[in-house]
Amino acid sequence: MAHGLNPAQSDAVETLSGPLLVLAGAGTGKTRVVTFRIANLIRHGTAPDRILAVTFTNKAAGEMKERVGELLGYAGKRKKRGEKRPEPTISTFHAHCVRVLRRHATALGYPAKFSIYDRSDQESLAREILRLLRLPGTALKPGDLLGIISNWKNESIHPDQAPMVASTDKEHLAAAGYRRYQEGLKTRGAMDFDDLLLQTEVLFDQHPEIRDAEAGKFDHVLVDEYQDTNGSQYRITKHLAGKHRNLCVVGDDDQSIYAWRGADVTHILNFKNDWPDAKIVCLEANYRSCGAILEMANRLIKFNAERHDKVLRPSRPDGVRPRIAQHKDETKESQSVVGEIKHLIENEHIQPRDIAILFRTNEQPRLFETELRKADVPYVMLGSQSFFDRREVRDIVAYLKWIDQPDDEVSLLRIINTPSRGMSPKTVKTLMEHAVADGVSIWQIMQRRDIVADLSPAAQRGVADLQSVFADVTARAKSESLSAAMDTLLTRTAYADEINRLYDEPEDRQNRMASLGEVANAIGAFEDNRDDADLTGFLADIALSGREMGNEKDKLAMQNAVWLLTLHAAKGLEFPVVYMVGMEEGLLPHSRSVKSGREEDIAEERRLCYVGITRAQEQLTLSMALTRRKWGKPVPTIPSQFLYEVTGQATNPNQFRKQRKMARR
Ligand code: ATP
Ligand code: MG
Repeated sequence: MAHGLNPAQSDAVETLSGPLLVLAGAGTGKTRVVTFRIANLIRHGTAPDRILAVTFTNKAAGEMKERVGELLGYAGKRKKRGEKRPEPTISTFHAHCVRVLRRHATALGYPAKFSIYDRSDQESLAREILRLLRLPGTALKPGDLLGIISNWKNESIHPDQAPMVASTDKEHLAAAGYRRYQEGLKTRGAMDFDDLLLQTEVLFDQHPEIRDAEAGKFDHVLVDEYQDTNGSQYRITKHLAGKHRNLCVVGDDDQSIYAWRGADVTHILNFKNDWPDAKIVCLEANYRSCGAILEMANRLIKFNAERHDKVLRPSRPDGVRPRIAQHKDETKESQSVVGEIKHLIENEHIQPRDIAILFRTNEQPRLFETELRKADVPYVMLGSQSFFDRREVRDIVAYLKWIDQPDDEVSLLRIINTPSRGMSPKTVKTLMEHAVADGVSIWQIMQRRDIVADLSPAAQRGVADLQSVFADVTARAKSESLSAAMDTLLTRTAYADEINRLYDEPEDRQNRMASLGEVANAIGAFEDNRDDADLTGFLADIALSGREMGNEKDKLAMQNAVWLLTLHAAKGLEFPVVYMVGMEEGLLPHSRSVKSGREEDIAEERRLCYVGITRAQEQLTLSMALTRRKWGKPVPTIPSQFLYEVTGQATNPNQFRKQRKMARR
């Protein structure tokens, strides 16, 4: 078994039962331990489908599945259609919760086919709520409301508890909004992302028999990146593992970077309190990065005062020293980074997929994208705007959501007159008023002949059109396939004409049509991979993956492209060549943390910087611009305090701030 594992790793992999914690630094093979352990459990007789492994991203889940398959010798042997081969469940918390909720949501008063609202669905609902509460736009913006609600949900605070915990004015307003928002979701048969976790927790709390049935599906639970579990995830894990106690968690407190989303590092640090008989394994050898890179990472993280000190030794040679590069401005920075990348690809035979550009904020990648396009270097972007945010994709997906769940009003209102079908804003308002008065959905109102008969002739034709689109698509999905139903949808709505109407440029039109093609491709791929493919399943799949990336981007990645990633999205990954760009105060550390000045906020930014550095295997460049435009004007920047820390120029965490204060005087 020891093949490809060091003694400490083997120890963890060969521990076949009981609670087990692997707390170890970056690149020490924690994820490898999880993967090998799954394979080892199966070799020792655990039925594959009795194993649940939880990863942080869909990408990680996919890679783990593949790897376990290789270890067990499934590789290359593609599953035949219809063949049932028991497999471990390897997925994200969110995806697993969707499966649980599909089985039991009715126990909470949600339809089994609840829709999953993404950000823009949530915003529509939030706007509606704020209108209902007659809150002027300035007091509380939809984004504020959603942000506050999300924080509460991440701390498992329910609407009735919110007024008690609210402290600021905005929070008090939001507490009122939260209740309406939650009711709004429920009447629409919808959940947002945070609900997927929270409602699962509620389900397990309120229905012990369901909890036991769900927990009883597995004999082993393994969780990667455990340092980033929030309260709900932590409690769900405990519920799932409570009986059999075969819980293996791995993580690194120095890489805890989701405190802002409710993650709590004490879950991993206090693991022993919950599971006193837990076996703890420490891994110390880093297999990922060259010595000089690791030295830099170690030097940086020591500046965090509160941490569990760990040994992290290089097992690779020193390699090339990391570089720090200063550029005149942000344009020069992007040109120079992309210039170097082009050189590496053309002259050093480095593959594009082996290179990553890491950044902190969503505004940063634009310039790099521009330069990469100019230089004709293929690239993929993760963690930023998703494929599923494009207008035409949103429209078609809204149609699909509505067809799956006709009471989903956010989706219905999006497509009710897109493409135009005589449903004027006045008609829509009338329908909404009836719906509110009768406490039913707009779709149900549209089935009422007495009400429809009072509408204008154009609107009546519109309603009839929607009804027949609905009937045709549903029928085709039943009799044939989802792909066929998608064809019907595009033809019946004449969506291509809508694209031609909206966009004049042939290239634009082509791109937009291609996006629709991608949705069709995604449906096709989904049907090929599932025996039980249905529309509900497909929509859940894209809702979950759309959050990380569009499927098309996955494909691109396989085609060998440079990675453009936020530091958050880079967690768990590794690349031979890494560029960390924008190493400036206000970017990394983020302006929010600089402004708050709180040590714990800076510490989280430092961990983020640590995550970035430890992604690099062979070459690492930290770059910054001396000036950067803000609202169009170049403003001088201040080098990130982390640059002083990684180079050893700073000796204690406060020195940098003191020096800056001095410089200002
Ligand atoms: P992170 O903290 O970033 O999530 P990790 O601890 O999960 O890192 P892995 O991604 O599992 O680390 O491993 C890092 C790299 O080291 C991978 O390329 C892995 O294949 C390699 N590796 C791990 N253990 C060994 C080993 N015993 N021998 C050779 N290579 C190894
Ligand atoms: Mg890992």
